[in-house]
Amino acid sequence: MSFTLTPLPYDYAALEPHIDARTMEIHHSKHHQAYVNNLNAAIAGTDAAKMSIDEICKNISKFPMAVRNNGGGHYNHSLFWLVMKPNGGGLPTGALNDAINAAFGSFDEFKTKFNAAGATRFGSGWAWLIKNSADKLEICSTPNQDNPLMDLAEVKGTPLLGCDVWEHAYYLHYQNRRPDYMTAFWNVINWDEVAKRFA
Ligand code: MN
Repeated sequence: MSFTLTPLPYDYAALEPHIDARTMEIHHSKHHQAYVNNLNAAIAGTDAAKMSIDEICKNISKFPMAVRNNGGGHYNHSLFWLVMKPNGGGLPTGALNDAINAAFGSFDEFKTKFNAAGATRFGSGWAWLIKNSADKLEICSTPNQDNPLMDLAEVKGTPLLGCDVWEHAYYLHYQNRRPDYMTAFWNVINWDEVAKRFA
């Protein structure tokens, strides 16, 4: 099977002023599309061509670097578009909120630690909120297009929330100000989607 790029469930301009339309358009239609195309080329005729993107990530150490980079790119961006929404933000509720408070002490403390994970990721990568194998919440970051689902990740778990901290995610509007972009990200988080992944 080959992978395809799913249209966003909202317009490119829908996350303004926090994430600008031009960045969203290039990010989705050029960057994500390229990961999909390159992934399809890398897995054509191999065992990976029969696997889901989750299975590919979980077995990533068996595959060449092109599958790791582009498979991660496809998985990560597919999640990223869904954990954002217009008029998002606010606070998580229910079991997710309880788990955040239990793991980090408070929502503010969680936010501080998540922002730090993104800010201190040198070069390109992602900040993550994950559920680990003990069903506990953890914050981590990965380089490049790696993710915590990958068998070779330093910190492993199921990704619930991810923030893309590659410059292509923010440079047009925020230039070098990654922390400003991350501050804005909290205004577009789709907590219903994060809660769905947590449950
Ligand atoms: Mn990206």
